[in-house]
Amino acid sequence: MHAMHRHDYIVVGSGAGGSAAAYRLARAGADVLLLERGGHLPTDGSTFDPEQVLRQGRFRSREQWQDRHGRTLVPEECFNLGGKTRWYGAALARFAREEFAADPVRQFDAWPLSPDQLAPYYAEAEALLGARHFEPEPDLARICRRLVRPGTGWRSEPLLLGLAENILDFHREAAYFDGFALNGGLKADAESRLLARVSHQPNFNVMVDVHVTSLLEDESDARFVSGVRSSDGRVFHCRHLVLAAGAMHSPRLLQDYLATSGLQDELPGAAHVGRNYKRHVLSAVLGFAARPQRDVLRKTQLLLNSRHPHSSVQPLGGSIDREIVRQALPDWLPRSVVEAFSRRVYGFFLQTEEGSHSDNRVQAGAAAQLPKLDYDPTRLPEAEREHRRLVRDFKRGLLGAGLLPFAQRIGLAGSAHAVGTLRAGATPQDSVVDADGRVHGMQNLYVADGSVLPRIGRLNPALTIYAWSLRVADRLLGSPVT
Ligand SMILES: Cc1cc2nc3c(=O)[nH]c(=O)nc-3n(C[C@H](O)[C@H](O)[C@H](O)COP(=O)(O)OP(=O)(O)OC[C@H]3O[C@@H](n4cnc5c(N)ncnc54)[C@H](O)[C@@H]3O)c2cc1C
Repeated sequence: MHAMHRHDYIVVGSGAGGSAAAYRLARAGADVLLLERGGHLPTDGSTFDPEQVLRQGRFRSREQWQDRHGRTLVPEECFNLGGKTRWYGAALARFAREEFAADPVRQFDAWPLSPDQLAPYYAEAEALLGARHFEPEPDLARICRRLVRPGTGWRSEPLLLGLAENILDFHREAAYFDGFALNGGLKADAESRLLARVSHQPNFNVMVDVHVTSLLEDESDARFVSGVRSSDGRVFHCRHLVLAAGAMHSPRLLQDYLATSGLQDELPGAAHVGRNYKRHVLSAVLGFAARPQRDVLRKTQLLLNSRHPHSSVQPLGGSIDREIVRQALPDWLPRSVVEAFSRRVYGFFLQTEEGSHSDNRVQAGAAAQLPKLDYDPTRLPEAEREHRRLVRDFKRGLLGAGLLPFAQRIGLAGSAHAVGTLRAGATPQDSVVDADGRVHGMQNLYVADGSVLPRIGRLNPALTIYAWSLRVADRLLGSPVT
């Protein structure tokens, strides 16, 4: 019989957070096992083929949930090595300084870290990902010029992107990166920019198709986690466990552990586990121009408006807006008409920061029950109000820029930006993890994914998740492995 092997660290989940933590720990020479529920994505081009990705939904999660009314939904989750970063739009943005502070009126909670404490990790993440600006393309430059006029409040800024410098040499990939997965590092995702750097190291192991279903309790003290069990009954042991299964999943693993270990009533932050779910108030706006729009990357500029200080607007990347139009138009329309419409569209993604509400939450399903996503945007009326005004103003601006706008709110299944369900905070009275990512009251359990974000900010969350996780790993390396 083999002696039980105990890894220094097990990391559960290989998205932005899990890969950043695993990279840093492995780089320092620790014995790291990364367990990922999904598999390797194919490299045959199918992951950037709109037919297979969008129409057939070949790579979509099939995991069913229920909403607060008991209706079934399938959230937009990505179970594969690299997690959602393989599919993301690669917009990499730092939170503004003021987005680390509390604002009770907006129901915004403070970070337990200062912006200066996260700054070096932001810089490291940007360097690892090779984040860069791209020249604004002609159609977007024209739209911005017409939109950004005195008295409107609009301003445009370059958007940092995790795309290879030569991406435009690859026509298909440049058109299909946002919402698609690319090969060969053309998009800076967690697999190509973090895991690939350490995958050759003997102290680092990645196991795919391992669905972690429970955390194991140390025999002598439930405040120590001794390892994890997977859906097929395999057991893996570790000294430190890093949860990074994403904001929809990490809280469910912790909820189950607290219930079975009896810590539910003892652990100081237990009442907050799964609560404060956030995902931005989101709308897509499609603008139709009189002439064909020829920009390729599109997502090169960000639009902000001083009248809507907690919101941002960014173009949809590449040709995904064209594909949305192709799918939305009825089949009986002649192909030439569909193509004429799709060539004239410019799509935008509008997002507004929402606050924390403890009733917006993720709940693990009891046996044979579906997990539950209890989320109601009307619990956060300030965000709703700002978002409605943002959509109205932006549509008006687009009209002034010569594009006919149509807006569509993104529904509950749009979990792309899910965060906040194991929020970090200074005290266990109001949070689940501390500033170093350790679960309050637990000895060796850490969280390194989007679950920890106390605020979601007005921009996209991935860069902040990478930065947080690099910092968590740093703090772990500074503490003894017992
Ligand atoms: C289409 C799309 C576009 C996006 N565009 C942007 C963008 O432009 N900019 C930006 O900043 N953000 C973007 N995002 C969001 C960004 O990708 C996420 O915020 C980020 O990846 C979250 O990181 P994470 O580590 O918290 O979770 P994830 O990336 O979701 O990773 C979690 C991982 O854990 C695995 N897992 C889950 N449960 C288990 C389990 N029980 N056992 C083992 N493994 C498990 C999952 O399979 C997954 O690989 C986008 C997301 C999508 C879907």
